[in-house]
Amino acid sequence: MRIDILSVVPELLESPLNHSIIKRAREKKIVEIYIHNIRNWSKDKYRKVDDYPFGGEAGMVLMIQPVFDCIRELMAQRNYDEIIYTSPDAPVFNQQMANELSLKENIMILCGHYKGIDQRIRDNLITREISIGDYVLTGGELPACIMTDAIVRLIPGAMSDESSALSDSFQDNLLAPPVYTRPAEFNGWGVPEVLLSGNHAKIREWQEQQAYERTRLLRPDLLEE
Ligand code: SAM
Repeated sequence: MRIDILSVVPELLESPLNHSIIKRAREKKIVEIYIHNIRNWSKDKYRKVDDYPFGGEAGMVLMIQPVFDCIRELMAQRNYDEIIYTSPDAPVFNQQMANELSLKENIMILCGHYKGIDQRIRDNLITREISIGDYVLTGGELPACIMTDAIVRLIPGAMSDESSALSDSFQDNLLAPPVYTRPAEFNGWGVPEVLLSGNHAKIREWQEQQAYERTRLLRPDLLEE
């Protein structure tokens, strides 16, 4: 899979995309991630990428020309399954979307900045818009990192134990069961007996029951889907 991320503050993308599971997936060539600085497509001698909005509203807007040129250059090189714009007014990202996007071959993620991007890019080039929640951030870089992280960990081979992702929250519309590690007794706090029993059928049954109970109490909406 290949992910191209377009940003005016590419530095914000560096650390989250260069550690842990994503770093290993990149090293194993399971995913290729390319970060593009939109300023490189600016025709301004100071690499300016923002301009005033028509209508005199407060704030600046990402200019259409460098965004257009950057997207079109990439589109000329390969077919993209999705050209995503991160935006607070879009449908909210969830595990189902991550599952779906993890099956794609090429995706592009455009990070907005300032007051956002020129609407004509949204209308004519963007194939999908995704929010990470009902609040407004300074730019789309953190949303792009969140989406990339959620997607990459689902690509076969990205995690050393693939079955681990299957028991994570939201897979099968359930929350994950609680987990414990050694020592079995710490500070007077114990571990549920069944987990120490060695009886795998019973452990599995307990985990399923815990996952269901936690979902029923904390996120009953998931059980209705
Ligand atoms: N004026 C826009 C609005 O009210 O919808 C917000 C612009 S925001 C300051 C700048 C950029 O950050 C957006 O263009 C978008 O790319 C990104 N962004 C901010 N909040 C986001 C969210 N909750 N989900 C996804 N992207 C977000």
